[in-house]
Amino acid sequence: MAGLYLHIPFCKQACHYCNFHFSTSLKMKDEMVAAICRELLLQKNYLEGETLETIYFGGGTPSLLSQQDLDLIFGEIFKHYPISAQPLEVTLEANPDDLTGLKINELRQTPVNRLSIGVQSFSEEDLRFMNRAHNASEALGCVQDAQSAGFENLSIDLIYGSPTTSHEQWAENLETVFKLKIPHLSCYCLTVEPKTALAHMIKKGQAKPVDDEHGARQFEFLMEKTAVAGYEHYEISNLALPGHYSRHNTSYWQGKKYLGVGPSAHSFDGKSRQWNVANNAQYIRSLQAGELLFEIETLTLVQRYNEYVMTGLRTKWGCSLLKIRGLGFEAEFSEGAKQFLQDGTMERDGDIFRLTQAGRFLADGIAAELFAESEN
Ligand code: SF4
Repeated sequence: MAGLYLHIPFCKQACHYCNFHFSTSLKMKDEMVAAICRELLLQKNYLEGETLETIYFGGGTPSLLSQQDLDLIFGEIFKHYPISAQPLEVTLEANPDDLTGLKINELRQTPVNRLSIGVQSFSEEDLRFMNRAHNASEALGCVQDAQSAGFENLSIDLIYGSPTTSHEQWAENLETVFKLKIPHLSCYCLTVEPKTALAHMIKKGQAKPVDDEHGARQFEFLMEKTAVAGYEHYEISNLALPGHYSRHNTSYWQGKKYLGVGPSAHSFDGKSRQWNVANNAQYIRSLQAGELLFEIETLTLVQRYNEYVMTGLRTKWGCSLLKIRGLGFEAEFSEGAKQFLQDGTMERDGDIFRLTQAGRFLADGIAAELFAESEN
């Protein structure tokens, strides 16, 4: 079973911290939808007949698609891709300012059955600092409206660690989540990516720098509060009430195949990774000519091992020594893991090595220490 990701590269305005691929001009939206449909046709054999169990519209801002756009894309998907027998999980990322009552009702008429809403914060000051297109009342209202319309399978994104997010505000954001009984959370620490507006503003002294310690304290508070509220911390950035894991993202972490469609989208077939050109005009032109414009890399054993360690350690499922042995890196991994078992950032349960709560603060650093540089 496999996943399908569709990248919708348009946004109303640029959030100050964002380094994803998107354009704020919607002029080419119709051509883009046609190009995506064309790519769906051209790539119909990529998954070698494996059935789809999840579809995920990410971006960018997929909630900028009209119902007609979605009908065209779904029409193409259902024409060319076999669907798994178990119910499909169909997620659409949506921004609060797009989720009017009308839009939510339109989405209910489509196969979309899970919304991932880019709330980020319920505080006006945070949202202004991030240059989000929505305000605090839209953040709250859209979740309530989506729930009233029958979207029970909801996820929201939250950002912590912003200089504008006081401890009280972070606590209030989490209280709001618990009151609304939102079953899935994706929580990210604000990071300053190079070449973003935020990086520029900090350099010019127009914005306060981001403090790692402040972010770490809010991450700790997140883990404490969500555990008490019954959420399972199943991946470093993802928490869910029982039965509400993101099946799509879990498939990525478990190394299943997926096809990514749209500019900058990545695909993985078990052996190689490929990524589409990250330029809207070039993507459209190539598809109009019936060609796919992408780069491809066949993963070496070292890359497969390093990726497995990187993603495995971020999840509650951890890394299996058996699997690592199969890749030929048991000795390196066991040797490298010793120090983390000793200092309490990692624990072992039979064949499985996973991070402890203390280790979750250091996940990327621990994984990097365990990486291999060459094959044995
Ligand atoms: S809406 Fe999402 S993709 Fe668009 S600029 Fe903001 S963070 Fe980036």
